[in-house]
Amino acid sequence: MKNEENMKNEENNRNNIININENTMKIDCPVCGGIKTAKSITKTNNIPYFGEMLESTVICDKCGFKHNDEIVLEQKDPIRLELVINSSNLSSRVVKSPSATVSIPELGLKVEPGPKSKSYVSNVEGVLIRFNDAVKRALTLFTDVESQKNGNEILNIIKNILSNKNDEKIFTLVIEDPFGKSQIMDLKTKKRHLSDEELKKLKTGITIIE
Ligand SMILES: [Zn+2]
Repeated sequence: MKNEENMKNEENNRNNIININENTMKIDCPVCGGIKTAKSITKTNNIPYFGEMLESTVICDKCGFKHNDEIVLEQKDPIRLELVINSSNLSSRVVKSPSATVSIPELGLKVEPGPKSKSYVSNVEGVLIRFNDAVKRALTLFTDVESQKNGNEILNIIKNILSNKNDEKIFTLVIEDPFGKSQIMDLKTKKRHLSDEELKKLKTGITIIE
């Protein structure tokens, strides 16, 4: 239920996107080589919290190839955001740009941006549910005793945090964003610049337009 609600909220946020301009072009397919069988659609969107982003989609009618990219047009300084998760901030807004790495270091959980990374606007609870779903998916892939034990422990901890049963241990939500577009909207969020060293270690998963 919670999961669905969150997804719906995130979708609503996406519906606030203001499409500034759209351009469609017939191109040769980069995968099957079909002559002008692919459509290349580029849109400039003005997305709440993110500003202008370029969305590029390539779809081939012949082989079914589909590729979607979000490109940040406005950039800010690289930031690191950190929030200690507790029962009072589960509903705090979280804005994650497509270039951000999201982690909960104490649980060993990390989601790095890849070619399919999307931006989303959610809250702390929503981020935990995303991690929860990712761990569940991992448990169907890694069936050995050790992985099952670790995975189920993590699921239990997330469940406790979500139902306010965790008081002793500290868990932090960390967002590292090389383009500084992400936000955790909570007064207790610690915010600082990413060092050059930290920046080098981060994946961006995104095309940069200079
Ligand atoms: Zn094709």
